[in-house]
Amino acid sequence: MEKADIKSWNQKELGGFLASLGEKPFRAKQIYPWLHVKHAETFEEMTDISKKLKEKLINTCELTVLRQEDVQCSEIDGTRKYLFALPDGNVVESVWMKYHHGNSVCISSQAGCRMGCRFCASALGGFVRNLTPAEMLDQVYQIQKDTGERVSHVVVMGTGEPLDNYENLLKFIRLISDENGINISQRNLTVSTCGIVPAMYRLAEEKLQITLALSLHASSQEKRMELMPVAKKYEIHQVVKACRDYFAKTGRRITFEYSLVEGVNDSNEDAGRLGALIRGINCHVNLIPVNPIKERDYRQPNSETILNFKNKLEKYGINVTIRREMGRDIDGACGQLRKKFSERQGKI
Ligand code: SAH
Repeated sequence: MEKADIKSWNQKELGGFLASLGEKPFRAKQIYPWLHVKHAETFEEMTDISKKLKEKLINTCELTVLRQEDVQCSEIDGTRKYLFALPDGNVVESVWMKYHHGNSVCISSQAGCRMGCRFCASALGGFVRNLTPAEMLDQVYQIQKDTGERVSHVVVMGTGEPLDNYENLLKFIRLISDENGINISQRNLTVSTCGIVPAMYRLAEEKLQITLALSLHASSQEKRMELMPVAKKYEIHQVVKACRDYFAKTGRRITFEYSLVEGVNDSNEDAGRLGALIRGINCHVNLIPVNPIKERDYRQPNSETILNFKNKLEKYGINVTIRREMGRDIDGACGQLRKKFSERQGKI
């Protein structure tokens, strides 16, 4: 019999399970904090639980704990890039960044990805599988343990397309913001998507306070299709409309991510078209000089081009920031640590 994934349950679900084992539901109030506040890694550690109940839990439940496989620390800004092994041996990347507003963790939502964005290292090895809510949570828990500092912000911007793992993502959001757990405010949570339109509408109905970030990367349908295969399925105006509607429904300002690629999407004309496309949306644009990956010949524009792009966009009344590059000295683009490891193991 497959064991139950105890760390992916909320307190109520845990109570229901305990009742089915013939236990008093209030035991959930004891066990839940062991999992989500004290981050116990074994049932043995749960000192206020009877030996009999511990045995029952060991026999029926899996306690998901990620193992730190590698970590790289930046000498420049303290950014830490982690490689974690999942219980089945797959690996995922997570990043810890220190900002003046707190500590932020970037987590992966899938092992691999099926979206195939041209400039992205995570797309190269293809899709492996969805992560469970517990596997998403434990990236944050492990990093908090390792650094000894509270994590205040979480961004779902690592490997994978979170809206392609919708049910587990929603459970994760509710667990990580649960006041009986690690209690990270939904306002400090960002989910980044390549633009899966039906899932964006669904998300807007969930009554969440999270920030939605949309990976736009182009100002025309034609150019977007060249960079992001998903654009063939969801046309750029449909995606932008879904963002408008997301704000209307939730009151949460949209973040547009735009990776600047030299000679591809960085011209003055691109900036003007982008301005016209998103003008009037309550939003913020994050310009990200593309992180070169060795498999592709994409380069960052020079700083003058980047600044011109920003200035042009601002003329449309749009709020723009240029993403500060964190951890410049540690293993370049997202997904490269995982890729290197998998290559060493002969997996991809
Ligand atoms: N699938 C989601 C989240 C993961 S990617 C999404 O598409 O949004 C997180 C962000 O990093 C996306 O905006 C993605 O387009 C961007 N990204 C991926 N590879 C990059 C690279 N080499 N340089 C700059 N940004 C990159």
